[in-house]
Amino acid sequence: MSKYQTYLIFGAPGSGKGTQGRALGTVPGYYHCACGDVFRALDLRTPLGQKFLEYSSRGELVPDEITVQLWKIRIDQSVESHAFHPDHDFLVLDGIPRNVHQAQMLDDTVRVRRIFHLSCPDRAKLVERLKRRALRDNRFDDANEEVIRHRLETYDQESRPLLAYYGEDRIVHVDAMQSPVDVLGTIVQVLVDDRRNHFGEEGFSAVT
Ligand code: ADP
Repeated sequence: MSKYQTYLIFGAPGSGKGTQGRALGTVPGYYHCACGDVFRALDLRTPLGQKFLEYSSRGELVPDEITVQLWKIRIDQSVESHAFHPDHDFLVLDGIPRNVHQAQMLDDTVRVRRIFHLSCPDRAKLVERLKRRALRDNRFDDANEEVIRHRLETYDQESRPLLAYYGEDRIVHVDAMQSPVDVLGTIVQVLVDDRRNHFGEEGFSAVT
């Protein structure tokens, strides 16, 4: 099987991954999948839903095997339902992989073209954003500050090493404190350039 041509939206909780991913997913030729949304779509009364609740409400990652298995099922479904056309759509992932082990587990499925790192060294700003989101989107995992802080620690310890795993060559650092439209503009410019370079690559015909 050929690998999915993939862009990762990467950054700490609150850095705006979902906002950017959703915007890109509205563009023909780009299919967006957010791992957090895959989990949130679970019925919380099922054993899998309970596992998600157990980990996310503590600000921790759901175990890798469950996560990657669930993600694969979800992607297969989107291919079968013709929502995602791997032969001419780029995949835009946010929230997965979230640690090096998950990245290794995905290596046979996805070809990571670029990582958009939404960078925000100011933790206080992120906490502020997450608290606002808790009220707006009814996110139980953003509701208390202790859980938020733990999620930021989890990001630093488990997710940040992914940057070294993929290497500087593929990373585009974007200042996440800019307005959403400025962040989007930066990402789109890179995608436009990359799409031009990609044209004619064997086995993958980009949408014209
Ligand atoms: P955020 O980006 O704000 O952390 P998400 O919506 O991406 O929020 O994820 C919410 C929660 O879902 C995470 O805190 C985690 O518990 C779980 N989760 C999402 N993606 C993954 C993943 N790839 N691996 C493990 N757990 C995940």
